[in-house]
Amino acid sequence: MSEKRMFKEKFEELKPFLEPKSIAIIGASSRTGPGSFNLLEEMKGFGYKGRIFPVNPRGGEILGLKVYTSIREVPEKVDLVIVSVPRNYVLDIVRDCVDIGIESLIIITQGFADADEIGFRLQEEIKEIIRGTKTRIIGPNTLGMANLFDSYHTSFVKMFPVKKDIGVICQSGIFLAASSDTSTGLGIGIDIGNASDIHFSESLAYLYSDDRVRVINMHMEGIRGGTEFLKVASEVTKKKPVLCLKTGQSEIGAKAAASHSGSLAGEDHVFSTAFKQCGVIRVRDLEEAGYLNKTFLSYPAMHGRNVGVITISGGAGIMSVDALSDNGLEVATLSDDTLKMLNDASPDWMHMNNPVDIWPAGMSGNFMPVMEKALDKIMADSQVDACICVLPAYQSPVEDPLDVGPVLRKIAAKYPEKPLAIWIFGQFRAEYEQLLEADGNIVVFPSPNRAARCLAVLHDYMNNIRTREDTEETALDNVDGDLAAGVLKRAKDKGITTLNEETLDLLKAYGIPAIESVNAANKEEALEVAGKIGYPVVIKIRSPQISHKSDVGGVHVNIKDEDELRVAYDQMMAKVAEAVPGAVIEGVLVQPFRTEGVEVIVGGKRDPEFGPVIIFGSGGIYTELFKDVTFRIEPIDHKTAGAMIKETKAYRLLTGFRGAEPCDVETLVDCIVRLGRLMTDCDDIQEIDINPLLVSPGGVVAVDGRAAVL
Ligand code: ADP
Ligand code: MG
Repeated sequence: MSEKRMFKEKFEELKPFLEPKSIAIIGASSRTGPGSFNLLEEMKGFGYKGRIFPVNPRGGEILGLKVYTSIREVPEKVDLVIVSVPRNYVLDIVRDCVDIGIESLIIITQGFADADEIGFRLQEEIKEIIRGTKTRIIGPNTLGMANLFDSYHTSFVKMFPVKKDIGVICQSGIFLAASSDTSTGLGIGIDIGNASDIHFSESLAYLYSDDRVRVINMHMEGIRGGTEFLKVASEVTKKKPVLCLKTGQSEIGAKAAASHSGSLAGEDHVFSTAFKQCGVIRVRDLEEAGYLNKTFLSYPAMHGRNVGVITISGGAGIMSVDALSDNGLEVATLSDDTLKMLNDASPDWMHMNNPVDIWPAGMSGNFMPVMEKALDKIMADSQVDACICVLPAYQSPVEDPLDVGPVLRKIAAKYPEKPLAIWIFGQFRAEYEQLLEADGNIVVFPSPNRAARCLAVLHDYMNNIRTREDTEETALDNVDGDLAAGVLKRAKDKGITTLNEETLDLLKAYGIPAIESVNAANKEEALEVAGKIGYPVVIKIRSPQISHKSDVGGVHVNIKDEDELRVAYDQMMAKVAEAVPGAVIEGVLVQPFRTEGVEVIVGGKRDPEFGPVIIFGSGGIYTELFKDVTFRIEPIDHKTAGAMIKETKAYRLLTGFRGAEPCDVETLVDCIVRLGRLMTDCDDIQEIDINPLLVSPGGVVAVDGRAAVL
């Protein structure tokens, strides 16, 4: 299906939920008035103009409307049914609705997957009932919908929302009920609750198509269908910014991991990676969400990283410079023309530069005209992409002879493509904030740091949609799928779930160079094999019970001759026996000792929702200590793999740190792509590590591998 059609279809599916012309409320209560939480009353009071049909087995009348005793009695096929009855009655109602062809159902009732085992099973049954039908469900455990553009919401809790061009998708009703705090306001709200059916992807597709929504907020606890989400979100973020507050950052999964990759790619990293990859902006907390919403609603563009600072305090100027640098923005270098104007207006002893301290100039002349002229000049400067303005609010704007409001609003309107961000301080801050933000094109921030952070996010978002490239389909030669399948099958037949040295065979099957390794069952064999390989050699313990070999004295490198090998072998056996009593020792692995190469880790972990997550970073025995790693979700092409390498400190080592010869990064890039493909092709591989992969100027070689398989 084409993307356009998919979006259109999902929009049509969700429309009856958000713009219903008729609604049946099942479980409508006859209690009305304060404290009764009467949905019908709330909806009417909020201004819903469509037809409402209350349903309650008791019948009667509510607020002048006839109450039907069952949904089957309602005289028309309504656009939407809202169910608010105890959980034990819900299933029968869903069946009735499916039966009479109702297509949109909101189940408000709690006590399903959000509660106990019985609730979980009931929810599974609901899914079963609607499978293959045209009926779609929001919830259970939801406040439902809000559409403030059309004065409609389905919340039984009173809402006092602030109307903004914001769409919210959440898994908790608080983000609708308290949207004025959680997202500074609301236009369209979708509480997917337990998300038994309609999930983030569908809701995103709806908000994509509703042109009244300019910024999207998500509150996410968990996700289903990660791959679909990535596809949809990648499209949506090209059209409008999507902010996400991800809660419940549990790392429980990571602790049980068998490999380096498993322990490094915790659930939270996977989410961060997914968001980054599809252009979703992850917000740290509600406060940040609030300022980012204002930022995106107020500033349509920011074309570069260069920021001008105009301040009435030198100290505040320095703070602003720090804030810019902390957030990856630049202090704009003002053009000569701008500097000349500023110098002409300042006392002789002052040499103007960015940050521009206008206090002395303002004092020596007339503050307001100087301020206006300076700000205008800076905003007009082609070297400037945005401006932070630092001003006091020591008096009420009504009485303040230095009321900067009119000047700032005039300049903001004159330069719509350059954000004018304000940090204003003093006890009249709130009054100024209201005044300055009235036209919707200025944001007043509580600190220069907050301003810089928001501008940086704005810039990066704009830059990302300009430069983002789709992943290319990459054909790989030298891949032997049968060989890999054979290795996995042999392990399965033997009931092995952790592969050690066999992992190197998997790698070779996918064209990743692996070191020559020979098994030796005892010391004599080891001596014989080493003789053939040629000294210096490395020996490594072979035991199904031991995966992290160095930890137990199971790796001995740089063995130069037979005598050293004899000693090393005996020492290793003694150490390992002490460290892992009872381990079955199958002998050692003998490898040539490689003297050069940067040690990197290339690995992967299969996430249940997003699929293979690929890891690259500094490798070796200190990987977990330094945590110099980066992640991407498959599919990965060569361009992406190259970008991953650049994100790590390992990149500096690889490209010739302190005069060293640059390594073969091109082959390394290829190995990352190949490892990704291996995981994508072989579903049985749950986790895999190459650690280390030695990267040298002459090429790459895997010297240690480990995989967890099903
Ligand atoms: P483990 O990770 O199970 O402890 P490795 O096989 O990765 O075992 O060995 C530990 C370290 O020993 C590696 O990180 C690397 O520094 C070094 N090493 C292992 N094999 C070789 C080799 N063939 N040549 C050079 N150094 C090696
Ligand atoms: Mg290792």
